[in-house]
Amino acid sequence: MDAARIKYYGKSYNRALARLVAEVIRQRSEAAPPAKLMEAALGKIFDVQYSYDFSLPRKVKISQAGESQKVDFIRALTELGLISEKSKDTALVRLNRSFEAAKNELREKIDQGDLPEKEFIDLFYGGSVNGIQGALDRVIGYPAVEGFGASSDAANIPDTAIRKFILGTFTEEILRKLLIRKIVKHSDYLVFKINDEGWKKLKQAGIEIRYGGWPVPRSRKEYEAIAVVLEGVDDAGQLRHVHNGIAYSGTCRSYDYNEVHMYNLSLKRPSSREFYKELAGFSEAGKRVAFVLGVLAHEVTHMYIKYSRLSLKHDILIDYDKKVKLERIDTPYVTRYVGWHEDVYKSSDEGTLEEDFCEAVHAYVINPAYLEREFPARYAFIKEHLPFIKAGSAVELVNELKITG
Ligand SMILES: [Zn+2]
Repeated sequence: MDAARIKYYGKSYNRALARLVAEVIRQRSEAAPPAKLMEAALGKIFDVQYSYDFSLPRKVKISQAGESQKVDFIRALTELGLISEKSKDTALVRLNRSFEAAKNELREKIDQGDLPEKEFIDLFYGGSVNGIQGALDRVIGYPAVEGFGASSDAANIPDTAIRKFILGTFTEEILRKLLIRKIVKHSDYLVFKINDEGWKKLKQAGIEIRYGGWPVPRSRKEYEAIAVVLEGVDDAGQLRHVHNGIAYSGTCRSYDYNEVHMYNLSLKRPSSREFYKELAGFSEAGKRVAFVLGVLAHEVTHMYIKYSRLSLKHDILIDYDKKVKLERIDTPYVTRYVGWHEDVYKSSDEGTLEEDFCEAVHAYVINPAYLEREFPARYAFIKEHLPFIKAGSAVELVNELKITG
């Protein structure tokens, strides 16, 4: 048992377990018999420590301990060589076996390196799912998609369709590498990218910032009031960039994984992107569904850029810049959205270029023929560097869903 492992236990569980391990090592060096060590360990872990579940009293009995506590405990004891033949039939050991069995099942079902197992362990310890089976179901049914069917603006797209789209567009292998764990749709609006000056303007206008410090307007009216102040226009009709119509993606604090969160898209229209106009036989409703999918593809591309920097150690945006430099002289922005990023958000050159890349992928899944014709360098780049992306996959799905109206 080395220091790194003690640290690992301490991190995944809590400091009490790390203290236990340290204590057992100390006692072992004093040549205490295993039974005594076991007793000391049990006492320490379940009578002294904080309860993992804070609704439980601080002193918890082993029968009350959560599944993750027990598994951690067993792992520690196994590492320390304290689990004997005799204790194999105890509930604790059975639990450990089911944990191992779950990991084995994952290895058999998903042949993609150690990521699914890492995901399983993290979900399990994170407590956001219900026990071993809950974590297993979540990892096998990857990625989790929530909230589309229940949202006010994308209710006609079932969560299952979103999942099918994203797996079919980027492949499961790539998505797992990007560490995209969850895709969530919200009905709330989102105001994004407020700089210091923006915060000042909101304060001066007497607009109270609520919802944990970040404005997440609950209604279109609330959203518009904020956006009008930020853009400095007279009324909502003059807004250039509809801030709330963007998806937001981030990394969770506790673990290095990504989630895509999409907020209310009702104010944002596909019509600001030329490539929607040419979709033959598409109703407005069909275009709106395609738009949700296109925005999702855009967000996933942000995650790919991040992945190229962190994992591939080669920033794909540098290649993109080289390849599209000439094309950008005449056509600096693949969509108006990219230009707005520069004008309204005051994004940096690099930030604007990143948006251009994401928007090119957006066009690629909606109308690849348009992209190839109007922006051949961008089109060629995606084909060459992101060969796994399925061109036109969004419109294919919309056709399958048979959206009418
Ligand atoms: Zn973006």
